Amino acid sequence: MISLSTIFGPFRRLYIGVMTSVAMTTFIAGEIVAAELNIYSHRQQFLLQPFLDAFTTETGIETNVVYASKGLAQRLQAEGEASPADVVLTVDISRLSEYAELDLLSPVQSDILTKNIPSKFRAADNRWFALSTRTRIIAVSKDRVEPDAIADLEDLAKPEWEGRVCSRKGSHVYNRSLVASVIAAHGEAAATEWADGVVANFARKPQGNDRAQAKAIFQGQCDVAIMNHYYFGKMLYGDKAEQKDWANAINLIFTNQNGRGAHVNVSGGGVAKHSPNREAAIKFLEFLTMPVAQQLYGEVNFEYPVNPQVAPGGVLQAWGAFKADELPIERLAELAPMAQKVIDRVGW
Ligand code: FE
Repeated sequence: MISLSTIFGPFRRLYIGVMTSVAMTTFIAGEIVAAELNIYSHRQQFLLQPFLDAFTTETGIETNVVYASKGLAQRLQAEGEASPADVVLTVDISRLSEYAELDLLSPVQSDILTKNIPSKFRAADNRWFALSTRTRIIAVSKDRVEPDAIADLEDLAKPEWEGRVCSRKGSHVYNRSLVASVIAAHGEAAATEWADGVVANFARKPQGNDRAQAKAIFQGQCDVAIMNHYYFGKMLYGDKAEQKDWANAINLIFTNQNGRGAHVNVSGGGVAKHSPNREAAIKFLEFLTMPVAQQLYGEVNFEYPVNPQVAPGGVLQAWGAFKADELPIERLAELAPMAQKVIDRVGW
């Protein structure tokens, strides 16, 4: 049984709730697993809740979640051994590896995770695991750009796109990882030259989030933009009418299909170093790599499964398959500091 002193803050009330309910433990396949799991999540509630519901239904393990867009790593550090956190969930390889570098995650040996997640999508030391994938696509104006006019990330630096490219700030993790992928492909000097060319083609100062780039194409401010693929689905099928117009104004280009493949990033997680419910934590990560959860990533947020045995869900399938860059994503995190230097140098 977990000592009450390890549980505090927002979890205390929930913990007492669990205590006064019938069982503190649940029997699963002969093992005793804690009846609760504490999650620190950078992912938003609307997205995570369906996974939590499915997990609790299947295992009987109740979940408590701290949602925050920032500051969870600092919080884990401050809490140290007393931290109630079992699992950390976040997006982008840079953020995952940051948790590992701060020594906030512990290695996990799990045959299920090893089998369900290709090696390029998990840490060599098993401290973090990707759970879904996303690709950064080129969005082009349906009206003003021929669908075959642009194919590769490298094309964004060509003079013909002068004054026609939109982007969010270079220092956002999505773009930093993208630049890291170009460094991995061509080296720092060529990547700098490329990034310089992209910046020279900007129609406006980098600004806004990914969806704002589609909006700018819709409004005619630019013809070409960089965007994570799932925002297309979120705009098209979400409840904001104006965003459907933005989505309908663009075509999606999976980049570098005749070469190294499209840049891929991930969402993922790991088990907290001082997890009080370690077995439940591992079970949760394993659950997230199984077919039911893997399909949920597509249904809830248009993300691709990380498990190659699971086919992408409905809408994703309709968008067609694409060739992904085979680079182990850990390399993107290693190159992130160099990518940031490149971004600063060219003023992206
Ligand atoms: Fe996003």
